[in-house]
Amino acid sequence: MTSQAHGGTIEQAWRDLVATARRTAAEGLVVGTSGNVSVRVDGDVVLVTPSGVPYDRLGPGDVLGVDLDGNRVIGTAAPTSELPLHLALHRETGARAVVHTHAVHATAVSVLVPELPPVHYMTAALGGPVRVAPYAPYGTGELARNMLAALRERTACLLANHGTVAYGDTLDQAYDRTAQLEWMCRLWLTASSVPGRSPALLSEAQLADAASRLRGYGQPA
Ligand code: 13P
Ligand code: ZN
Repeated sequence: MTSQAHGGTIEQAWRDLVATARRTAAEGLVVGTSGNVSVRVDGDVVLVTPSGVPYDRLGPGDVLGVDLDGNRVIGTAAPTSELPLHLALHRETGARAVVHTHAVHATAVSVLVPELPPVHYMTAALGGPVRVAPYAPYGTGELARNMLAALRERTACLLANHGTVAYGDTLDQAYDRTAQLEWMCRLWLTASSVPGRSPALLSEAQLADAASRLRGYGQPA
């Protein structure tokens, strides 16, 4: 395989994918073999985690890649059961990397409301109030379709009674969006559980203002 990942080799992209998958477990966003990760490399190959394999068992020899139709082109393991969801994002959006988790606060929010109320300005970093995709069984095309609709103009969503999906230009960006989403869900659950009080929400104008400020956030490029 001579294809290059964005700025590196397939081997490097696989190392980054495994590190990201391990981080979801280490930081408590999944337990066991829940969740999955993908990253697109040049040549329209998508590296994906295998189904049902603990992330600490994955090594450099376990590289697994599929094409955009889901045909295995690198490796021998069975790909994640959520391949339809990952490939829908790689085909239909500018996603280069996708992270799916069962983060507990995010999943709790997914069973309470159709949209995460905008309690924090970081809502703007995900494109606006985060929607909940209606429930469909894991691994199905129906779940992938519900997710795509929920992600319109967003880079993250919740899956009802299931978990989170976030995508980005890099694995770090997709991971960071996942962690911010889980944190905001925890924040809303905390604030909304104070008896007799309900959280103040940000207006559309305040979110638009936050979005434009965030474009200049951090170090100059
Ligand atoms: P896989 O082990 O097949 O990736 O499935 C985990 C999961 O989160 C399904 O939604
Ligand atoms: Zn899942």
